Amino acid sequence: ARVQTQNVVGGRKLNVYQMRRAEREREKQHKPAPEAENPIQSRLSAGDYVKFRKLDEHTGLIEEILPRQSELSRLDAGSTDKKAIPQTLLANLDQVFIVLAVAQPDPHFAFLDRYLVICEAANLSAIICLNKADLPHDSHVEEAASLYARLGYTVVWTSAYSGQGIEGLKALLKDHTSLFTGPSGVGKSSLVNALEPNMALRTGLISDATGKGRHTTTGSQLYPLSTGGWLADSAGIRALAAWDVSMEDLPRCFVEFRPYLGECVYDDCNHIDEEGCAIIQAVEDEIIDEGRYRSYVRIYTGEER
Ligand code: GDP
Ligand code: ZN
Repeated sequence: ARVQTQNVVGGRKLNVYQMRRAEREREKQHKPAPEAENPIQSRLSAGDYVKFRKLDEHTGLIEEILPRQSELSRLDAGSTDKKAIPQTLLANLDQVFIVLAVAQPDPHFAFLDRYLVICEAANLSAIICLNKADLPHDSHVEEAASLYARLGYTVVWTSAYSGQGIEGLKALLKDHTSLFTGPSGVGKSSLVNALEPNMALRTGLISDATGKGRHTTTGSQLYPLSTGGWLADSAGIRALAAWDVSMEDLPRCFVEFRPYLGECVYDDCNHIDEEGCAIIQAVEDEIIDEGRYRSYVRIYTGEER
């Protein structure tokens, strides 16, 4: 199969953008994708690392897709349709920036916990970005920031207005494939704009965390950042928002619960109201934060879904 590509960026990653565009052109002209004769292309997703043979300056032949470190697909665990084949929307995403505003709108840490759980379940590292740091804010935001930092998460304070933290963001983005998510109005578009003035407005890079995007692309697209690293667009955000965390997996997704798992009296403890629950004990002993535990219960009981 001959796949049109721009070039190889960074010596290893193919720019899949061009290929997707060719695919869309084909769709527009109602030409079927040449799947049968081209098994590699039908499995190919934005974000894949591939081995390819260069044919000439602008053309390469993809010979192999390298193993994926992560994949976000349209159909995740929990889908009822057993026969459906999950379509990978984005491969090799490795970190997610969960953006909240310190004020306007006030941050909801239950929302943050929900997204942290998804990141833990999907094996993506989460970075908490507190934007609008230029605005006056409540002291509980600082307390929350230090709580999450104690849990081991990277917390960055940024302002798309003053430029605070933007260089730090660039450093965190470098050499990673990242996604920005968060409620609407927290400044995600403004941040991307501050990072990459020429890029944000002409792409569907950002949508709010409900995953309601403006267009329905089949796959995600990746955009190279001028300072290194890649940003994924809203199709990836939708796939992330739809990630279904299994109940067995949930306790582990609260990182501070991990040392206590296996310590409860009952092996099948759900950590909700059981006697001799080591996690509830740790909450009572104020070792585990009560708000975090409430987030666990809320997700467990399905109030969040
Ligand atoms: P998005 O919905 O998350 O993409 O948020 P936008 O980037 O559209 O920003 C929402 C509003 O917040 C706009 O009015 C921005 O001008 C404002 N805003 C964005 N970043 C900042 C910031 O760092 N500080 C302040 N004070 N306002 C900001
Ligand atoms: Zn328990």
